[in-house]
Amino acid sequence: MPATTHSTEAPTQALTQLSDEEKMFQASVRRFAREQIGPHVREMDDAGVFRKDLIRQMFELGLMGIEIPEEYGGQGGSFFQCVMAVEELSAVDPSAGVIADVQNTIVNNAIMKWGSADQKQRYLTRLASDTVGSYALSEAGSGSDAFAMATTATDAGDHFLLTGRKLWITNAAESGLFVLFANANPAAGYRGITAFLVEREFPGFQVGKKEDKLGLRASSTCELILDNCRVPRENVLGEVGKGYKVAIETLNEGRIAIGAQMIGLARAALEHASAYAKQRKQFGKVISEFQGVQFQLAKMATALEAARLLVYNAARLRDAGQNFVTEAAMAKYYSSEIAEQSASQAIEILGGVGITKDYPVEKLYRDAKIGRIYEGTSNIQLMTIAKKLLEK
Ligand SMILES: Cc1cc2nc3c(=O)[nH]c(=O)nc-3n(C[C@H](O)[C@H](O)[C@H](O)COP(=O)(O)OP(=O)(O)OC[C@H]3O[C@@H](n4cnc5c(N)ncnc54)[C@H](O)[C@@H]3O)c2cc1C
Repeated sequence: MPATTHSTEAPTQALTQLSDEEKMFQASVRRFAREQIGPHVREMDDAGVFRKDLIRQMFELGLMGIEIPEEYGGQGGSFFQCVMAVEELSAVDPSAGVIADVQNTIVNNAIMKWGSADQKQRYLTRLASDTVGSYALSEAGSGSDAFAMATTATDAGDHFLLTGRKLWITNAAESGLFVLFANANPAAGYRGITAFLVEREFPGFQVGKKEDKLGLRASSTCELILDNCRVPRENVLGEVGKGYKVAIETLNEGRIAIGAQMIGLARAALEHASAYAKQRKQFGKVISEFQGVQFQLAKMATALEAARLLVYNAARLRDAGQNFVTEAAMAKYYSSEIAEQSASQAIEILGGVGITKDYPVEKLYRDAKIGRIYEGTSNIQLMTIAKKLLEK
């Protein structure tokens, strides 16, 4: 039977095989990232600030509401498209990648899954059009052990009063809305944790110190201060005491997109290293003619392909409604590991200039480090993988 008789409904055979719609989407994000973000990457890294006009363009292109249904002004796209967008943005600037990552895969997602009809109407419309969102779980005393949080929520009838401090909150400098976790019943332990939708203007809410970081410098990371912050009862996301479920389930999805951020970064490292190797001459030859350099590039390409397959598989499982928790942990763990190695290897292939700010690879190396830390450290991913492995 000729191959052309295959139905267009046939499932994609290879994980990296894209539908026409996915190809078009990928090409448009790639073009935007290269042409609009590219020229500003170094300046934004130096300043430690992401340009507002670029965030506005990300909204205009629909990149901040990819999966939000069209009825709320979103693109009605897939989770896989979120992952492709994060990969493409990160291949140019991992800070741009994380802005879209947090917005699409943990903030929008949490509201799409757990929000009431009224919350979706009030907030998804804004998140799709002009409002940046943040996800506030971590605190100074609770990182990996996230449910040991000290921020409390006191029930005051038609509203809650939230008190405490959140740390490391991505996008906080730009955000208008925070998916924020507090404990409404500390005596019940993690079963008191509740998710709230907190607007920046709510009384008692303040964005505090912004961190000065090694990498991902253009992405804001701030402290949040809650001093009897008044949050209306209708802004409880999901149920009181079920916030732990909201956190676990959204972070499982978010991890896949951190994997995408890391494969975008690793791809950039490989592209810069290959381009340089093809023009740098030593011993009378371009260095790409040396087998030693070829093998270094080949190993980077192989690791990238393996990481991409893990990330795409986890994303496609999620879109298919299948279990993806272990696959997501593997994708994040492995991608962040190879991103750091690839960025390091790229610097070596560039030699001395690799470590200077005249070339982009030193920034990729700095940006890679966070991949093994946020949304669950590598140890936490390994714990998830091992738990599944050993229960069989
Ligand atoms: C740039 C940046 C952006 C971030 N963005 C956000 C955000 O938007 N929202 C948010 O809520 N949080 C955010 N975070 C916080 C991030 O998720 C935490 O930093 C991360 O979960 C680790 O927590 P920690 O820093 O407290 O480290 P710790 O939990 O103190 O871990 C320290 C070390 O101990 C290890 N460790 C801890 N427990 C175990 C264990 N049981 N077994 C083995 N090893 C263990 C860890 O692997 C790590 O190596 C961000 C952090 C950074 C740096």
